[in-house]
Amino acid sequence: MYSTHNKHLFDLESLNIKLYKSMNVVDDKTIVKEYFNSTGFDRWRRIYGNGEVNTVQLDIRKGHQKTVDTVLSWLKSDENLSEISICDAGCGVGSLSIPLAQAGAKVYASDISEKMVEEGKERAKEILGNADNPTFAVQDLEALSGNYHTVVCLDVLIHYPQEKASEMISHLCSTATERIILSFAPKTFALTILKKIGSFFPGPSKTTRAYQHREADIVDFLQKNGFNIQRQAMTRTRFYFSRILEATRK
Ligand code: SAH
Repeated sequence: MYSTHNKHLFDLESLNIKLYKSMNVVDDKTIVKEYFNSTGFDRWRRIYGNGEVNTVQLDIRKGHQKTVDTVLSWLKSDENLSEISICDAGCGVGSLSIPLAQAGAKVYASDISEKMVEEGKERAKEILGNADNPTFAVQDLEALSGNYHTVVCLDVLIHYPQEKASEMISHLCSTATERIILSFAPKTFALTILKKIGSFFPGPSKTTRAYQHREADIVDFLQKNGFNIQRQAMTRTRFYFSRILEATRK
């Protein structure tokens, strides 16, 4: 009797969740956070590491590394790294933050996923010893406060639809005193590439949860927030593509 009662409750609960999902009450951010604390964490920690991975993952690893290297080379070429503060919003496992700190910048690394942050801390400790740079924090990028000379946000916007992405860009701009660097999946490239990465995203619609953005829209948002494009690059491998923009305050 008791268990039947419980079962009904359970059914009601799953019905509610379905209803919430269809009403879009469970928002993208909740889904993304959950993903990067579970299956996404395992997957991306491996892709962003040096261990053995499959061919598609290896291709993505190489593509992502190119994006990181491009940003590192831009920042280093200005020869002022030791004088500036950098916020790495959605830092993942520290793929950019760690080499940036190594190169002398003061880095504030944060991510919405505590698992990614934990892994980032461990990697930093392994590579840099017990240094307090970068500092790591579990934080939604929309809750970031303070001011940084440069705000970087790599391969994060792909997880959010246009409207959310524009809100995020506005917030990131408000915390950057001089410069913002971000990457996104441009709409001009065939989505089929991402669709091939079968388990890129969780849930029944795992192949549709990668959002592409129109470059014109992103540039527009940056300009509306007082920034002008300076440098740009495109990373493209077989299964990975990412447009990188650097913009500075007008
Ligand atoms: N920028 C890193 C990681 C990219 S993976 C790199 O290029 O190596 C995307 C990361 O964005 C994940 O770690 C995920 O947890 C994080 N993320 C997604 N939404 C976020 C949000 N709203 N605030 C902060 N981090 C977020």
